[in-house]
This record gives sequence, C-alpha cells and structure tokens, in this order.
Amino acid sequence: MPLKDFEKNFPSASKSVRNAILNKKTAHAYLVHCDDSDLAVSFSQILAQALACQYKTKDGDSCGKCKVCIQIYDEKYPELFILYPTSKSRKIQIGKDDFTEDSLRWFQSLFYLTSIHESGKKIGIIRDADRMTTEAQNAFLKTLEEPPPDSFFILHTAHPEDMLPTIRSRCQRITILRNSQKYNFDGADILLSVLPDIYNGYEDIASGEKAASTILSVLTLIKTNAEKKTTQNWEKLISQSENYESNIGKKLEERRDTAIQAEYLSARESVIGLIYCWFAQLYQLSLGITLDDIPNPEIMNDVNKIFQNNPERSFECLKKTENFVQTMKWNVDESLAVREFCLSIVFPE
Ligand SMILES: [Zn+2]
Repeated sequence: MPLKDFEKNFPSASKSVRNAILNKKTAHAYLVHCDDSDLAVSFSQILAQALACQYKTKDGDSCGKCKVCIQIYDEKYPELFILYPTSKSRKIQIGKDDFTEDSLRWFQSLFYLTSIHESGKKIGIIRDADRMTTEAQNAFLKTLEEPPPDSFFILHTAHPEDMLPTIRSRCQRITILRNSQKYNFDGADILLSVLPDIYNGYEDIASGEKAASTILSVLTLIKTNAEKKTTQNWEKLISQSENYESNIGKKLEERRDTAIQAEYLSARESVIGLIYCWFAQLYQLSLGITLDDIPNPEIMNDVNKIFQNNPERSFECLKKTENFVQTMKWNVDESLAVREFCLSIVFPE
C-alpha cells in the first residue's frame, strides 16, 4: 500500500514525505509519532517502501509492485533490520556485543556489513523506540550523528516525550495520531475557549460560574444532537407500530429513550475527555514539554495566552479534573457536579 492511501486520513504526513522524495531531501532518520501500534507498523513499512523503491511514481510515491516494494511488504527484504523490545521488561538493551540478538549493538552492526541487495539500500526500523534504555539511546545517537552510507532509520513510538531530546532532534518528525480526531464534537471550540479562563480565574467566582454554564450548554447541545440522531433511527419503527397494539409502541418508545441516553453518555465521554486532556497537557507544558511532544497539540491553541509556566497550579487543576472525571462516572446530578468542578478550579483549598 503506497503513501497515497494514507493521504485521506493523514494528508500532511503523506504529502511531506512525497515532497521530500521529489526534492531529493529525504532524511536519514524519521521519528514516527503514532498512538496506534498497528498503524505505526504499517506506516513505517510504507515509508520504507517509498524511500527504497527504485521505480518511484512521478508524485514521489513507491510503485508498490517492484521486487523491493514486495520484499519490504513481506518483511523479506534482506537488508531490512527491525529492532523491538523483546525482553520481559520490554526494554531495548544496548547488549554485550554485536552478537547479542535483539540488542542495539547487534542492530547497529548489521548496517556495516557489505550490501548484498542490488538496490544497495539498508533500512532500520526501531519499533516502540521509547523502550530503548538511556544507554542504548546514547549509543544509537552516535549512529544518527554519522549514519552508515545508503541507510535510513525509521523509529516509531507512541511516547516521543520518553526519548532523549538529542535523539528526537536528529530525526525528522512525522505525526500520525488517530486520537487527535476524537475531539471533533459540536461545541468543542466553545469548551476550549472557556478552559483558559477558569485556569486564569484564580479566586474569581464569576469566571467559575461562567465556565460552568458554558460546559452545561455544551452538554445540552450534545444531548440535543443525540436525540436527533437516535430519534431518526427509531421513528420509522415507531410509526409502523401504530398499526399494532398500543403497548408495542410504548415499549419501542422506552427503548428509544434508553438509546438516546446511551448515545448522550457516550458523547459526554468526549466532552469530559477533552477537559481532562486539556488540563493534563497544560501540566505537561508547564513542566517544559514542548507542543510537539504532546498527543493533542491542536487543542492547546490558546495556551500561549494563558501560559504562566506554573507547574504547581497546573498540577492542582489536574487533580481537580481527575476528581471530576471520577465523579461523573457515578449517577450524579450533572449540573451540580460541573458547577462544583469549575469552582474547585477557581478556589482550590
Ligand atoms: Zn517499488
């Protein structure tokens, strides 16, 4: 499967690689930040094909059909070397010597053997690269500084923040996150605009109240949407039942109402999840982690406006948010819980 097949879901990742290939500006090492392990494995394979294929298309993609492409797909390309965590601790160790299989030293040594494939390209893939020990990462850094000829490396990880900054800065970053799509519900923008206000509204009751009514209005909006969506599906069934005894219609109406509630609760998860994600990321940023290294940078747009680099305050807010997430799991009075949460951010004892 060539890069173009990724274009619909991850347009910028796919286009940037194809442009680099067309302009002959590909990197020696790529760091693929991906939150889905199957997707990470298949994207790394596609990236390897695009870099190694000798019959590239005119838009910078792999042909998907030549010997190299097929061997890479089948993981039978003789100079495709894959390193991944195998030990019980799921760590990638540096290894005693070049002969310790599945160790970093073993992996590196493979790139200095004479090339046996006619394409002459060597490909190294490190899966779950954040599982490299610090020792292994430091050793790999030397390879990144002086890469062996005709070789390229693809590292993938769901947690780039757990890797040495020196490694990250020497790799070209490609971000493909499934999760970043999940906060697309109606009202997400309204919600995001009010979160910086309560964070900043320390001891300001008005901003707490305003945030509470905003969050509740977003919940009302998603409830209305859940009703609309579910009712459409049930309308036909209920209208057909009008020809039958009245209790059938009544039962269907009850089931419809249960379905609406289920749809609403699942949509509400996204709302609560967004609030939690925002505060969790704010805390990460306050610790000096960069926007590049958090899973959902797209929701932190207004962060520069509020950012006070205050880990203590951010941590306090995160704890209050965790309480809120827990509370909402119980069958509680929703508006009371939301109000209490907003006031707890504004007035943390
Ligand atoms: Zn090909």
